[in-house]
Amino acid sequence: MKVFINPGHDQNYDSGAVNPNSGLKECDVVARVGNRVKNYLEAAGCEVQLLQSDNLYFDSQYNDRPVAVCVAANDWPADIFISIHCNAANTQARGTEVECYDSNDSGGQLAQCIQSQIINSIGTVDRGVKEMPGLIVLKHTNMPSCLVEMAFIDNKADAQLLIDSEDDFARAIARGITDYEGTL
Ligand SMILES: [Zn+2]
Repeated sequence: MKVFINPGHDQNYDSGAVNPNSGLKECDVVARVGNRVKNYLEAAGCEVQLLQSDNLYFDSQYNDRPVAVCVAANDWPADIFISIHCNAANTQARGTEVECYDSNDSGGQLAQCIQSQIINSIGTVDRGVKEMPGLIVLKHTNMPSCLVEMAFIDNKADAQLLIDSEDDFARAIARGITDYEGTL
């Protein structure tokens, strides 16, 4: 199985959400988790490509980062695409959700496998699988895809969990992917 991992945002150009107190940046958290997911998946026998970039789909004004995320995944071609993010809202909201293009297709199944693994192993608030067909990385990828919102980086307790349970999040995402592979 060929898995494309896209840690969200960009360490040079787009930090993503930031915790207002600690300054913890989404781009850094997801980069670390993405690398760990890669290691777990490779240990499980998957082929993995990882690309963190704010050039998501034919945004050609970025001369220094010409390869767009969705194009790289489609050209490979990947069997599965995963984008990894942290959520943010009003500092009060907490929990995990996995977003997909259509909850009734294979991307929806993949999303459910990952959601279940995270909820069962880490015990974050279960916000469920959500359909977000407008998201660029879900709309423009040709393979089953989903976007994992691990927890809320602007919430104090969730932010601590993102630090303390970084490896647990990675293992849960990798296990969700291998669970999905087992259903094929
Ligand atoms: Zn994000």
